[in-house]
Amino acid sequence: MGVRGSGVPFLAGEKGNAVSSQRVETIWHDRAACKGPQSAVFFPPSQAERRDEREARERRAKEICAVCPVLRPCLDYALSIREPHGIWGGLNEVERKQRMANVG
Ligand code: SF4
Repeated sequence: MGVRGSGVPFLAGEKGNAVSSQRVETIWHDRAACKGPQSAVFFPPSQAERRDEREARERRAKEICAVCPVLRPCLDYALSIREPHGIWGGLNEVERKQRMANVG
């Protein structure tokens, strides 16, 4: 997984206590299914990538997301910061933009 920045506003903790964005981020990161060597498929390579290569890479990333226990907070986070790159919460950047446009 790429570096996940902060920027999420303070959110309510599990017991209603305010927790920092850093703490909330850490909570779901700890359970991310994309930790480890497979994290490379979540972002484009540094060299040019053919369309079929990108589609295969994104398909593999989305398969990992599909069984990830923190898909929802990951997607919410990516949407909240308008993350412009990579697969987050099972969606690529184009799909996240479409989701944001549909929400309003
Ligand atoms: S939903 Fe996908 S990108 Fe987000 S933490 Fe899980 S595996 Fe990683």
